[in-house]
Amino acid sequence: MGKLGNETAKAELGRAAWKLFHTTMARFPDKPSVDESKALKDYIHLFARLYPCGECASHFQQILKKYPPQVSSRSSAAAWACFVHNEVNISKGKPVFDCANIGDWYDCGCAEEEKESMAKHGSQSER
Ligand code: FAD
Repeated sequence: MGKLGNETAKAELGRAAWKLFHTTMARFPDKPSVDESKALKDYIHLFARLYPCGECASHFQQILKKYPPQVSSRSSAAAWACFVHNEVNISKGKPVFDCANIGDWYDCGCAEEEKESMAKHGSQSER
């Protein structure tokens, strides 16, 4: 890649990453255990630290310092993720996304039972 980078690849990476990020929040339990909340918080911090675009990673880490992850429930995590994505949108001069219906926006395509079993599996693996 040249010195100017590749804006198209960066934007594609961004769209894919945001999709995963928001879908992860949409699948997070409504009533998470302490361990599940900790896992999400760790995941968010590692996502920010390891994000492949270095400039984006340091920008996002600054945003996390200002607006720490909200991991007490699915709705608070989803609303928080929408808010911090808007912080990135604003910094790039993009329109602000309406977070009011964020709960219906991201669908993993998986069955409800699978979501439940994922939550259970998480607590089983603690034993
Ligand atoms: P994107 O912002 O990628 O959004 C994809 C889709 O998500 C939109 O089409 C819309 O349907 C939906 N969406 C938009 N806003 C929200 C929201 N608030 N909540 C939920 N869904 C929403 N690029 C840079 O140039 N500089 C940076 O510093 C930078 N930092 C980034 C940090 C992170 C953590 C990530 C994941 C990406 C970053 N990017 C950065 C990439 C940038 O945010 C965009 O992904 C990229 O510019 C493509 O933009 P887009 O307009 O296609 O939509």
